[in-house]
Amino acid sequence: MNSHQLFRRSRLRLAVWYALVMGVILSLSGFGMYRALVQANWAALEREIEAIAGTLHDSLEPMLPASESPTATLQQIFPELCLVERPCDPNPTLIQRHTIGLSDRTTYYIRLFDHQGKLLAFSPNQPLQFLPTLNPTPWQTFRASNGNRYHQFTTILHSATGNHDPRNHPSWGYLQIGRTLAPLDAEAQRIRWIVTIGFPVALGLVAASSWWLSGLAMQPIYQSYQQQQQFTADAAHELRSPLASLLATVEAALRLPPSDQQNLPAMLQTIERQGRRLSLLITDLLFLTSLEHQSSPQPFQPCCLNDLIGDLTEEFLELATGANVQLASQIPQQEFYVLGNESQLYRLFSNLIANAIKYTPSGGHVIVSLTARERMALIAVKDTGIGIAAEKQARIFDRFYRVDSARARKTGGTGLGLTIAQAVAQAHESRIYVQSHVGIGSLFTVALPIYQSSSERESLQPWATHINAP
Ligand code: ADP
Repeated sequence: MNSHQLFRRSRLRLAVWYALVMGVILSLSGFGMYRALVQANWAALEREIEAIAGTLHDSLEPMLPASESPTATLQQIFPELCLVERPCDPNPTLIQRHTIGLSDRTTYYIRLFDHQGKLLAFSPNQPLQFLPTLNPTPWQTFRASNGNRYHQFTTILHSATGNHDPRNHPSWGYLQIGRTLAPLDAEAQRIRWIVTIGFPVALGLVAASSWWLSGLAMQPIYQSYQQQQQFTADAAHELRSPLASLLATVEAALRLPPSDQQNLPAMLQTIERQGRRLSLLITDLLFLTSLEHQSSPQPFQPCCLNDLIGDLTEEFLELATGANVQLASQIPQQEFYVLGNESQLYRLFSNLIANAIKYTPSGGHVIVSLTARERMALIAVKDTGIGIAAEKQARIFDRFYRVDSARARKTGGTGLGLTIAQAVAQAHESRIYVQSHVGIGSLFTVALPIYQSSSERESLQPWATHINAP
């Protein structure tokens, strides 16, 4: 296939399109997965911060001092926190008791503000560059000067003592819990690296597999193209021989001296024979083409096999008698109907019977029988002819194939008889089975699904009358 330019180009185009489409699908799904993963991590992180903030909030609120200047009390509650404007001693913190089980102490930080938003206390690990003023938005994300990102949650604290005036100061202050986003960013970066390296590798694999797949897809098209080419070459060859012989005879007839006029009738007979052969060949070719390219197949009708076989046997009787071959048929009383195209079925069985007579020597027998088995009608054409060697039986359905070319030409065969028969059988969802032994004879069997038998027809008849009755 690669040697053929047209197919190579089509295969390449198919592979490129396939790789492109797969590439787009891959990148979209990769991006979607990345987004989903980051989103899931982010949601888990926010849930974790909220949970810690909730725990701290609930345990702090009952202990909050009511004083306007609460730093002294705060130091008693939070001995581990750094108080604003006091030297900071980073001992193990209260925060640790709540957060240490979840992460290390550098991950989370805490800050406490009064109701005016003034910073009161903070854990030593808080990013120092943050301004000591409050932004009361619940969720905030910052980027520190060291490049690390932080995410924090702010919640309102209410004093349990309630001594302050709730109209002026509806809250005691604010609690802020935050954490570094460094592990999350590192994870996202890791995923981005995997995608950056993995995507070209996956695309390379897709490109290779699309080249292979497009080759597979092109294979049947290429085979059919080759068959078509072979058919054209064979048909041209088959047409050329009788045409050349015809032209040679015409030429010879034209050059015939007036003294040799007695040879003219024999020459004209040759011309007629070759003309007939040509005509037969063209008819067979057209029939075969119409069978193979039937764009809108005619609807099948019920056909009576008994009538069909009876008619054919009668029709071929003369030919058989001429060849001194005894032609007989075995048709049962019960009628069998199949769904099909009658003229095509006629052609199928006539080809089989004609072959049986053609390839049976003088004094031989040909029997055409119709039997039924398990809702299948079996039509068998049996002869006591020359037979076909086992190794050649598989090829006899090929176009223009003849076991013995010289003999087949003498008997007037086009080499398309069995090809047509097989094509008709296939159009009727059937097959032709061959059993043959050289020197003993051949048996060609066609099995067709029974549509209706005469007994079934009769049982349906009263209904038909009833329906048609006024
Ligand atoms: P042809 O027109 O040459 O008969 P067919 O396609 O009908 O072409 O048959 C193909 C070949 O199969 C024949 O050339 C012949 O050699 C072989 N063949 C077909 N039917 C029979 C048969 N009944 N007995 C022996 N050989 C047969």
